[in-house]
Amino acid sequence: MMNLCPSCRIGRLGKRSMAYIEWHGRNLLIANRMPAHVCDVCGERIYDDNALENLQRLLWSKPPGATTAILNRNS
Ligand SMILES: [Zn+2]
Repeated sequence: MMNLCPSCRIGRLGKRSMAYIEWHGRNLLIANRMPAHVCDVCGERIYDDNALENLQRLLWSKPPGATTAILNRNS
């Protein structure tokens, strides 16, 4: 039940690593591998809360430009 897709309510969410791309101000943030739950029917992506939190922490603690390098190193 907890793996049921909240978007289409038909598909199931499977754990996968997905690229995560987001504009952060004028900087494009790219994380090569973000833990996410992806629906096998509609393709809805739900990113892991803890991973997003870590990403936000990196953004606030490092100057722009350093973030991408850190993320690429960890992936
Ligand atoms: Zn779905």
